[in-house]
Amino acid sequence: MAHIGIDLGTTNSLVSVFEGGGPRPIANRLGGFLTPSVVGFDGRKLYTGESALARKVAHPEEVAGAFKRTMGTEKTYKLGGKKFTSVELSAAILQSLKEDAEQDLQERVVDVVISVPAYFNETQRNCVASAARMADLNPVRLINEPTAAALAYGLQDLEEESCFLVFDLGGGTFDVSVLEVFEGVMEVRATSGDAFLGGEDFTSLLARKLYEELPEDQQTEANRVPLAKVADEAKHALSKQPQAEINVDRPGLTLSTQITREEFELLCEPLLARLRRPMERVLYDAKLKPDDLEKVVLVGGATRMPVIRTMLAKTLRHFPDAHIDPDYAVALGASVQAGLVGKNQALKDVVMTDVTAHSLGIETVRKIGNRHLDGYFLPIIERNTVIPVSREEIVHPIHPQQDHIEVTVYQGEAPDVKSNVKLGRLKVDLPRAKSGEHESVSVRFTYDVSGLLDVDVTTLQDDKTSNLLIKNLAGDMSASQIEATRKKLAKLKTHPRDEEINVLMRARIEQCFAMARLDQRAEFSDLLAQFDAVLAAQDPSDIEHFRDEVTPLLDRFEASYVL
Ligand code: AMP
Repeated sequence: MAHIGIDLGTTNSLVSVFEGGGPRPIANRLGGFLTPSVVGFDGRKLYTGESALARKVAHPEEVAGAFKRTMGTEKTYKLGGKKFTSVELSAAILQSLKEDAEQDLQERVVDVVISVPAYFNETQRNCVASAARMADLNPVRLINEPTAAALAYGLQDLEEESCFLVFDLGGGTFDVSVLEVFEGVMEVRATSGDAFLGGEDFTSLLARKLYEELPEDQQTEANRVPLAKVADEAKHALSKQPQAEINVDRPGLTLSTQITREEFELLCEPLLARLRRPMERVLYDAKLKPDDLEKVVLVGGATRMPVIRTMLAKTLRHFPDAHIDPDYAVALGASVQAGLVGKNQALKDVVMTDVTAHSLGIETVRKIGNRHLDGYFLPIIERNTVIPVSREEIVHPIHPQQDHIEVTVYQGEAPDVKSNVKLGRLKVDLPRAKSGEHESVSVRFTYDVSGLLDVDVTTLQDDKTSNLLIKNLAGDMSASQIEATRKKLAKLKTHPRDEEINVLMRARIEQCFAMARLDQRAEFSDLLAQFDAVLAAQDPSDIEHFRDEVTPLLDRFEASYVL
């Protein structure tokens, strides 16, 4: 059976097959490799790919594109008098890729691996899987796009534990991820990006400059479309040559000018600055410096611009690896994964972990001088935390006589809650305070890929818990799915300090301390302090890492003691 991988992209999609030990892109019915992720419906007939795109100018109301952006939302697209969801439109693209693959391979194609953005939540992933089933495909695995790109580059075979960065700049979106590979296991350590930044923005900047160069009587709305096309051609030309000639001569629009690569790059500086920020953030979240990266790989057509490559070389001190076509890397990697799934246990599998895309927290009050100012955001689960996760924070009411506390939940990265997204509010009565004492409450957030956020507020004095279930992040879930997810979440709610495995670890360190000679004791008391700090931070992967590092040390010490 053929091993098929599909990159279902925002702008373009591609299908690839793993055969003869390597991946190969499959051409579509028109002989091209990239199929525009565009669907048209004229009331009778469904159009996909190039033929849908070609109808866009004459029948814009019958054509939809970029529907991947609305996956998991309620949005519908009305085309030719009929409503379509993004799942149905994606199914139409998948169906046409399936037919192209069957034509090429001369066999039936059912099992596929499909790539999805690393930040997609479970609802969005379920939507992609449903679209596949609607197209008579069996999605054996969904793979994160940066992981797929890394597989195309063969990074799973790196012997040493290494980290690398996947820089994905498409037509309209920018995603940057840091991945780690260790003994054949690949993990997404952190992701960031900008959902509204891509190659098209570079085209728009150039188009605007050309527009401003036009004589005033030609600066009309009608001229913007042809100028965008000319600007796009010039942008592509500048990726190959140091200068581009621009000559347009049509009724109402005459322009003859030239632009050098240097001028273009200067023009793009504000966009480059916007690209740098998520890169800094992703390294910060992955707790890495540029020198810790083994490799930087490129994905997405817009990374062909030389200015992107020099910017990366300067910022990350790595010249990026681009020997695989950046438009094909994700699809090729998805088919490599299909090959791995096919061979089952024979080859190293790739494990993926999910991380939260945004921070989740509550509103707090700060005391500045003797004034109380509200509206501050206190993150409880930081962005890029590996999920599932459960974390608690202790908060204190401001006034000793306060009889209730309001917990307002927000999502976002801004320090002031006003700039973040409000998700819900919970009012909790406080038990009567003992004279003058502040009553504290613990606020616990529990969250997993389903997008359901379970908030528990417990008054510490009488140990009463109030609960708020936030569903906004979860998309459409049935009552029984919610119940099943809550059961799963409930298991996470133990503080790591109270988890059996950590209790045992702590007891072992204490025991080693007791057994150790006086001059060895400092080492174990340091370990204990470090472990307590890691437990207090409640990051499951850091805790696991600590245990993995320290266990052999304790094993050795205990063995030497017995001898
Ligand atoms: P993708 O969505 O990955 O196919 O990326 C498409 C984007 O890449 C569009 O904005 C294209 O204009 C841009 N792109 C493709 N090839 C080049 C090139 N040679 N030079 C500059 N930009 C390019």
